[in-house]
Amino acid sequence: MKLCVIGAGYVGLVSGICFAALGNTVVCIDQNEDKIRQLRAGGVPIYEPGLKALIKDNVEQGRLSFTTDTTAAVKEAEIVILAVGTPSLPSGEANLSYIEGAACEVADAMNGYKVIVTKSTVPVGTNERIQNLIASRTSHPFGVASVPEFLREGSAVLDTLHPDRIVIGASDPHVASVLTALHEPLTTNILTTDIRSAEMIKYASNAFLATKISFINEIANICEKVGADVTRVAHGMGLDQRIGSSFLSAGIGYGGSCFPKDTQALIQIAGNVDYEFKLLKSVVEVNQGQRFNVIRKLEEALGELEGATIGIWGLAFKPNTDDVRDAPALDIMQSLLEAGAQIRAYDPIATANFRKLLDSSEITWADSAQEAAEGCDALCLLTEWEEFGEVGLGELNELMKHPIMIDGRNVYSEEQIRRSAFAYYSVGRPQLN
Ligand code: NAD
Repeated sequence: MKLCVIGAGYVGLVSGICFAALGNTVVCIDQNEDKIRQLRAGGVPIYEPGLKALIKDNVEQGRLSFTTDTTAAVKEAEIVILAVGTPSLPSGEANLSYIEGAACEVADAMNGYKVIVTKSTVPVGTNERIQNLIASRTSHPFGVASVPEFLREGSAVLDTLHPDRIVIGASDPHVASVLTALHEPLTTNILTTDIRSAEMIKYASNAFLATKISFINEIANICEKVGADVTRVAHGMGLDQRIGSSFLSAGIGYGGSCFPKDTQALIQIAGNVDYEFKLLKSVVEVNQGQRFNVIRKLEEALGELEGATIGIWGLAFKPNTDDVRDAPALDIMQSLLEAGAQIRAYDPIATANFRKLLDSSEITWADSAQEAAEGCDALCLLTEWEEFGEVGLGELNELMKHPIMIDGRNVYSEEQIRRSAFAYYSVGRPQLN
């Protein structure tokens, strides 16, 4: 099939490339000229394992190309996928200006029947708005569908090629059958439903996962006070198939470009129909508070933070990505700066992106985990990159001024800690040293 994907970000780029890998002809479009220039030169504007090789292969096979010219790409396509951003407005509502802008460009470029698919996460009713918007600008026939995306950054290629399920929201059986044929090589687990339910499935799924995280974080906070170990508690809970073990890792909470904005948007979606989503409001509040437990633990360990040198390991909101949108490290480092601390920070991939959001003469940007730890009064592990767990605590002890660690992701084992000289604060585990 001939596809074009509008928005070459984490979702559009990965799904476009994966559709090309399945044998479709795909044009990825972005209005950001730098991104397209980089892609055309064989580069990748985002960090995502496996992506670079797939791009090279599919470009060489002549199935994948990149452009800023939406009009030309839409004219050639049978299926147009909208994968532009839907960031939060200050009210928490989703900003639909990008998706509406893209829909208008598609409408103006129409030259015959197209299936127009929304992959961006959009509030219930948005696809109907898009349908009306396009119909108001073109007389060409078209069908619309909501096919929400569930990939996770850091494993986006794998998730796209091996999805748990595909949800196709479409009212027109022809549209549903075209999109079923497109997705069938990926999975047999395809759910076809109405458009509004498809839009809601995305928000409900993210809200549920966020709830699981805040739930286990509150259990962790109680564990700290009653002397239980949340890792054992989560293991015991997860053995129950009704609960499942995923998303039960206690830590400093979720961040990134999806959970924070999608939970806020769902609270607003409910509010717009006079429903107060009390549970989700608490999930958001718990998540925000969880980040600041790092500061509380630092104060407990060091007393005064003014003048202290604090090492930070991990700036990305999760490992294996360069995405720093709403990363816990932003709030934590901001608080440290306000308290008058000096910071030595390191991330394997995300430092350049992070510095666009937060920079200061009080921060030293280190080139390695060891360099970040040098001379520190305490070290905070904020993202569980694999390389951090590989640094020996004995080696760290020699580098740091004081062997104090706040492990926000419970990376080190009880045995490693007990064998070390570290004063170690983790999340929801008894004080080990
Ligand atoms: P992103 O910010 O990485 O990429 C969006 C891209 O769209 C940008 O490169 C931007 O330049 C481009 N763009 C905006 N308007 C355009 C236009 N009119 N024409 C061409 N290009 C345009 O966003 P993302 O993280 O890929 O997210 C996209 C959508 O997918 C959002 O709604 C998000 O909620 C949803 N989603 C994201 C993830 C994720 O993990 N990132 C997962 C599932 C769903």
